[in-house]
Amino acid sequence: MKYSLPEEFHVFGFARDLLEWYDSQKRDLPWRINRDPYRVWVSEIMLQQTRVETVKPYYMNFMEKFPTVRALAEAPEEDVLKAWEGLGYYSRVRNLQAAAREVQARYGGVVPDKPEEIRTLKGIGPYTAGAILSIAYEKPEPAVDGNVMRVFSRLLYLTDDIAKPAARIKIEQLVRQVIPEGRAGDFNQALMELGAMVCTPRSPHCLTCPVFDYCLARREGVQEELPNKGKAKPPRPVDLQVAVLLRDRQVLIHKRPEQGLLAGMWVFPMAEGDAWGEADQKELLAQGLLAQFGVEAEVLHSLGEVQHTFSHLQWNMRVWLCDWIDGQELPPSARFVSIEQLDEYTFPVAHHKIRPLLPRT
Ligand code: SF4
Repeated sequence: MKYSLPEEFHVFGFARDLLEWYDSQKRDLPWRINRDPYRVWVSEIMLQQTRVETVKPYYMNFMEKFPTVRALAEAPEEDVLKAWEGLGYYSRVRNLQAAAREVQARYGGVVPDKPEEIRTLKGIGPYTAGAILSIAYEKPEPAVDGNVMRVFSRLLYLTDDIAKPAARIKIEQLVRQVIPEGRAGDFNQALMELGAMVCTPRSPHCLTCPVFDYCLARREGVQEELPNKGKAKPPRPVDLQVAVLLRDRQVLIHKRPEQGLLAGMWVFPMAEGDAWGEADQKELLAQGLLAQFGVEAEVLHSLGEVQHTFSHLQWNMRVWLCDWIDGQELPPSARFVSIEQLDEYTFPVAHHKIRPLLPRT
């Protein structure tokens, strides 16, 4: 199956801004001093399941002892294991040495630059192959690990279960479509850097994120709920009554709190609760407007129904035209604006879907 990037995702601007950030902010790491494929390979194997700070001294020591494929291939296994001691997951280093021996024997000590060859080496999976091919050889290959799956799930608002192999295949396809020509290695490293430094598993630092403007999950305020790591329950349905409340040809909107779902975004007023018939729904909305905004309003008639699904919730929204009767001063988070002015406010997609139902003023 062929997956395409969402239309609203700006590929060019995203890649440009990400690389600009990476060029100016990238960490000075010992494996970045050059693009020697062997050096890249060793660093990628060491970094599996191990933090960067822990890896640094091990990496420098290992490269000093075994500076080339040949040195590693010819070293006694005890020496290699000794240099790895403390890093754990020893099968990694055993596979690394076995693969170095194969590279020495079959390719004359030169790490292969063809995907079909490099992938046959022991311990080199799709991620490591992509990292070596792109960083050392500038091949436009994706390097998708858990970090990149998290970043892409958020950037493109993907709700696929990342524990399933199909999600990795999909994300690899999508990353491939974003890799800029001639900068595959930097681009893959920039994505990894973004995942490590900014788009962290818990509490991503969206306000300082270099690709804030392009991020579709952030736009919806659901970035902290992604990636979907399986065991997902179906989205919980929530019935909402939404008010298009008019006063002097202006409509009431308000800004959501800075925390929680759709934080800081502008929306039309909503009331949540069980209401079975039209009369109950109208009553619920009128009470909600009074309680939240101190506004007395007449709920006139329904303008239509709109549905929006988040990863964990499904909003079933019934939209009502309402007429202002009376009211106190609005809370600071709320205001009346003309329908033309709505474009100046950031609305989530869930409420963008309501805009076509608005009456012409
Ligand atoms: S805006 Fe936030 S969620 Fe989106 S990529 Fe940046 S840090 Fe991650």
